[in-house]
Amino acid sequence: MMQIYALCCGFLEFDRHTFFPDQAPGTRMTIPVSSYLLIHPKGRVLFDTGVHRQAITDPIGRLGERRATRLTVRSQVGDDVVCQLARLGMRPTEITHVINSHFHFDHCGGNEFFPQATFLVQSREMERARGPDNPYEPRDFDHPLHYQLVDGDYDVFGDGQLVLIPTYGHTPGHQSLWVRDGQATQLVLTGDACYTQEHLDRDVLPQSVWNADAMSHSLTTLRNLRDTHGTTLFYGHDSGQWQAIRHAPESLR
Ligand SMILES: [Zn+2]
Repeated sequence: MMQIYALCCGFLEFDRHTFFPDQAPGTRMTIPVSSYLLIHPKGRVLFDTGVHRQAITDPIGRLGERRATRLTVRSQVGDDVVCQLARLGMRPTEITHVINSHFHFDHCGGNEFFPQATFLVQSREMERARGPDNPYEPRDFDHPLHYQLVDGDYDVFGDGQLVLIPTYGHTPGHQSLWVRDGQATQLVLTGDACYTQEHLDRDVLPQSVWNADAMSHSLTTLRNLRDTHGTTLFYGHDSGQWQAIRHAPESLR
């Protein structure tokens, strides 16, 4: 069975209304930021790289004044992808592949620390990130890294165990990771295609949406995987689920 680790990349606090626009502003909520490490016989794969560690000590310097007033970084020193790998006795150079679900700052902030890895990103996402008026921060992703662009479904090692699935909508080229390493074991790392179980159960979209129809479609796909195929979903920012699962250095399962 593939070893999987959930890496704590800190916590962010902001108004609950941004997550659930159908609820009135004024209540704060704190959400986890995560990265996952998957150890496959052919490579060590990271799914997302969290927020850059500079944001822990210098949030305004890293995130900018506008974003830093909208949200509060609630992370401790050590809540970043490189420190979390170190807890497993692993160096960044040992990571062979990085998958970015998308290019928001809390999913690719640690990209620069993996210059040896192959980065798997949907070409639609890169196109948006390189295009005009995009909401992305070049400091997070725009480094001399080995980006391999993919379109839609992509089987990372060609054996069906790790498959990228397009879950567009939150951003133009958002992707999730489908993991299947046994007859009965199927799980999906949703990224921000679904922030929390509540979004899935109540069929709510968050404030941050590129295309609502596409995101609803992705949410339906994930719901079908869970309800029809018994797939376990690991949500992008679900604090309840995060508290219930095991984190590195313990393995997820
Ligand atoms: Zn996010």
